[in-house]
Amino acid sequence: MQVPFADLHQQYLDLKPEMDAAIASVIARSSFIRGPDVERFEQDFATALGSAHCVSCGNGTDALYIAMVGLGVQPGDEVIVPAMSWISTSETVSQAGARPVFCDIDPVTYTLDPAHLSGLITARTVGIIPVHLYGQPADMDPILETAQSHGLWVIEDSAQAHLAQYKSRTAGTMGTCATFSFYPGKNLGAMGDAGAIVTDDAALADRMAMFARHGGLKKHDHRIEGINSRMDGLQAAILSVKLPHLQDWTRARQAIAARYGAGLGNAGSLTLPRVRDDCASVWHLYTVQHENRDALQKALAAAGIATTVNYPRGMPFMPAYAGLGYTAADLPVCAAMQDRILCLPIFSEMSDAHVAYTIQTLQRLDAEGL
Ligand SMILES: *Cc1c(COP(=O)(O)O)cnc(C)c1O
Repeated sequence: MQVPFADLHQQYLDLKPEMDAAIASVIARSSFIRGPDVERFEQDFATALGSAHCVSCGNGTDALYIAMVGLGVQPGDEVIVPAMSWISTSETVSQAGARPVFCDIDPVTYTLDPAHLSGLITARTVGIIPVHLYGQPADMDPILETAQSHGLWVIEDSAQAHLAQYKSRTAGTMGTCATFSFYPGKNLGAMGDAGAIVTDDAALADRMAMFARHGGLKKHDHRIEGINSRMDGLQAAILSVKLPHLQDWTRARQAIAARYGAGLGNAGSLTLPRVRDDCASVWHLYTVQHENRDALQKALAAAGIATTVNYPRGMPFMPAYAGLGYTAADLPVCAAMQDRILCLPIFSEMSDAHVAYTIQTLQRLDAEGL
């Protein structure tokens, strides 16, 4: 049996009539950049999260950059980010002129460990970007408390956490603002690049929208210099077809995670992901740890099961950040985890047979002593 890591085409086939009609409608109206489809999606996405404003943009990386510009990040500023994330979280800090300061992660939940925050805050620190990694919210209460007591902003990088829950609050509604990606493989994915920022702060939303759209909200009214980072009409129309299904797709991911948890709990070679009692993960990724990760990945591939490693290097240990001089001793949890993590297939269209076969294969490999 072949188990793919994801099946974007199946999701399209499931919604084909609606999807084709939405795309044809955008083409018929030549509504290619922003326009009514984008405005509608912005409203619907803000409503789905319970946020006052949604500012769409080109992708989830731009969303982080635009948010930091909107928050007034200046050269010389420092921004605290978790050591384990996709590089967008840290590269945009530099892009905004500031310096990323890496914080180690919690060994159980893989998200930014609030216990290390106060040791990293200096007179130059302006903000914190917790990442809701793999779909589980970061431990926001202590993060927000620390931010508040030091006068820092908080951007929730929610690219992997559409509709995730933290103590009955939705990921993306707790910080100063939150960024989302609609990259095709994300839990809510477009058919190309797209991103958004949500916030309850109307003035911040205006500054971000202005910056993303050449410095003006009306044509030829450039109040500042900006960039070109807009959502296009096709992506918005596609996302609007998908958004009403997101809750069901999330439940499907949660059911698969529950089956993995029940089916693999006794496989001693695997460390399974854990969700805090007061959180609901949306399982963007199901990330296990294994002492002999590379061999396990190879054995699974030989059995037809696709896996990925997200991510094989914590950001501070990438060549891009060699100049900052971080060593494994500075961020021991991230350093240990990067060689052990493996992401199993999890996607809402995954069949029961796929899940059963993946569990059975992992059980066999565990019994064989791998
Ligand atoms: C995907 C991702 C991003 C970037 O989103 P793009 O739309 O690909 O630019 C940022 N942060 C995290 C945590 C992500 O997973």
